[in-house]
Amino acid sequence: MAQGIPCPLCASASRVLETRMANDVVLRRRRECTVCRFRFSTLERIISPARFRVDWDPLAQKAS
Ligand SMILES: [Zn+2]
Repeated sequence: MAQGIPCPLCASASRVLETRMANDVVLRRRRECTVCRFRFSTLERIISPARFRVDWDPLAQKAS
């Protein structure tokens, strides 16, 4: 699925060069077309429920 994003120019398959977290739920990926070598970036939102789990510890709250 993540590998299947087509090249904007020739619609061929792209490969991932680099993956970074843009924020907690969005991945920023640098991609390169396997055919024409065109490079582009994508933002991919994480939709796995596990990724949205909030770790909230009352004992860790700062007294202000
Ligand atoms: Zn291409």
